[in-house]
Amino acid sequence: MAPEAVATPNAAETYNDRMQDLIQRLLVELGEDPSREGLVKTPRRVDKALRFLTSGYSADIDAMLNGALFSVDYSEMVIVRDIDFYSMCEHHLLPFFGKCHVAYIPNGKVIGLSKIPRLVDIFARRLQLQERLTNQIAHTILDKIQPLGVAVVCEGTHLCMAMRGVEKQNSYTITSAMLGAFRDQARTRMEFLELLKLRSGSLSITGLPLPQGSHHSDD
Ligand SMILES: [Zn+2]
Repeated sequence: MAPEAVATPNAAETYNDRMQDLIQRLLVELGEDPSREGLVKTPRRVDKALRFLTSGYSADIDAMLNGALFSVDYSEMVIVRDIDFYSMCEHHLLPFFGKCHVAYIPNGKVIGLSKIPRLVDIFARRLQLQERLTNQIAHTILDKIQPLGVAVVCEGTHLCMAMRGVEKQNSYTITSAMLGAFRDQARTRMEFLELLKLRSGSLSITGLPLPQGSHHSDD
């Protein structure tokens, strides 16, 4: 009888013994007994979860965008707002998550709307800093369709701060990347920020574009 074969009906799933050995040793270091019932399958589960949560490293952005870049005669601001993101802080390996808002002004080309949340996922599923996540999304859009401007604002709750009591539990970090017209033209930037405020009462980002960094790496 091979109980593991029952637990993983998908034969294509591969597991890394080295990773599972490490997680088992980590449990011992934490003072746990990895052989107790609730923990027996934990190394396997953690291996699988971590691989999913860092799957953005191996994602192919060009393949994802393939066939979703369109030529259009449209030069008004395109906004995709309230995109949920879930990422992992590279300093503590703890989650941070929140909303991401993306805007750009086309210059002959647009990205299929559904691809923008996919792009956010690809960069979020890595060990990240919220500042870098924000910049990577913005620069990828700039690179792929050369728009007149790109703006990305992320609002994130960091469990490494909230759970450890480093910050007030309901505080969140706002980061922004403003490129092209959003950087050069205050009116364009304000139009974007006003549109964000329309539906998000909690968003008070009048003071942007200076990002409020999440400088919590010292401990
Ligand atoms: Zn952290």
